[in-house]
Amino acid sequence: MKFYNTISGKIEEFKAINQKEVRIYTCGPTVYDFAHIGNFRAYVFEDLVRRSFEYLGYKVVQVMNITDVDDKTIKKSNELGISLKEYTKKYTEEFFKDIDTLNIERAEYYPRATEHISQMVDIIKKLLDKGYAYKKEDAIYYDISKFKDYGKLAKIDVNELKKGSRVNVDEYDKDNVQDFALWKFKRKGEPFWETEIGLGRPGWHIECSAMSMEYLGETFDIHMGGVDNIFPHHENEIAQSEASTGKKFVNYWIHIHHLIVNGQKMSKSKGNFFTLRDILQKGFRAPAIRFLLLGTHYRKTLNFTFQALKQAEQNIDRILNFMYEIETTVFKDFENSEMDKITEEYNNRFVSALEDDFNISQALNTLFEFIKKINIMIKNREIGSKDRDKIVSIMRGFDKVVGVLPDKFETELQSEEKELIEKRNRLREDKKYEEADKIRELLKDKGIIIEDTPWGVRWKKLQ
Ligand SMILES: [Zn+2]
Repeated sequence: MKFYNTISGKIEEFKAINQKEVRIYTCGPTVYDFAHIGNFRAYVFEDLVRRSFEYLGYKVVQVMNITDVDDKTIKKSNELGISLKEYTKKYTEEFFKDIDTLNIERAEYYPRATEHISQMVDIIKKLLDKGYAYKKEDAIYYDISKFKDYGKLAKIDVNELKKGSRVNVDEYDKDNVQDFALWKFKRKGEPFWETEIGLGRPGWHIECSAMSMEYLGETFDIHMGGVDNIFPHHENEIAQSEASTGKKFVNYWIHIHHLIVNGQKMSKSKGNFFTLRDILQKGFRAPAIRFLLLGTHYRKTLNFTFQALKQAEQNIDRILNFMYEIETTVFKDFENSEMDKITEEYNNRFVSALEDDFNISQALNTLFEFIKKINIMIKNREIGSKDRDKIVSIMRGFDKVVGVLPDKFETELQSEEKELIEKRNRLREDKKYEEADKIRELLKDKGIIIEDTPWGVRWKKLQ
């Protein structure tokens, strides 16, 4: 497995800290509103990373934080006159509904910021002791000039930063505008916690340092987020974590590029701002939305258009129709001796694509080429009943990564019904048509229609 590591600027071979286990932190939602499709592009890609590792046999431990205290959540809850907890609970629940709609696998942990205040306070205390943080009237700040490596992720020169930023410093209590708040002291109308470092609430950046290290250890494998998180958020996470532990924070940084709509930045004023619900309301299916968000390589900008979404629906239908055909066609009773070789070849190609910087376009190409290949073989009557399970199982395997197939086709048959169809097949092969027709009638009473097609028997369930 190799992929692009933001901090080195290179494609690197992945080496897990613990053999076949991968520990991943993903910056999660701030639960002040519904997440939009730009957010979901990142979450769907992170799901692809997770599923790819699982497909390669890794155990995944993933953490996604829920930011349930920040300026926006406080402001909104105050406007509505309800508690922060009540306000964020609603949007946290809606977030999980959306995650399920998009068939995003659940992470192992979804820590809430408000439930990890003591861990944040511990880090801030260490930073104060070691001289990386200083106290002012309004907050405790991180002094970026004390951290030698500041800027190593975003490739930013701290001295350049300082020059341009003097103007704003007066508005704050901090010594330099690029210094950031670790702890904001109690302000009127804001929730606060009573802690050893004073009454107040955490800054955003400290949340992720505290919750990642709490569940994944002081050094872990992969940290992901959108490209807009690189600076200052992830840069600040590194500064806080490495200064407090004296250890390397993260081995690999993966950043997902932006989503634009019809070639333009998404914005409410332009009317091109969409939540997942907005798109579902237009009648599009969730698997197609997932497919579209997934299909563009994560290091390219994804241009979301409804035309592309229609194409995604067609692609989903191609997969569904193929699966339907494979699962419902009653093939002749033989086994193609080439089938193991074929499935292995396509599976290898699929895996190589994933291992090549999560090249999902290549992986999807492989899936569609496999469908094409098998369809030709069906027409040439080269597929036997013993091949069906192998075809279904490789397709189900691909879908463990792609995630667009239903768990079960509603049209699936009972084993008793399958046996009847197979019995009818044998009767027809023995030219016992009268008995065969009786079975056809029996199946019809059960609501199953039998069709004899040039490439075998197919069935349909009456709706
Ligand atoms: Zn974060």
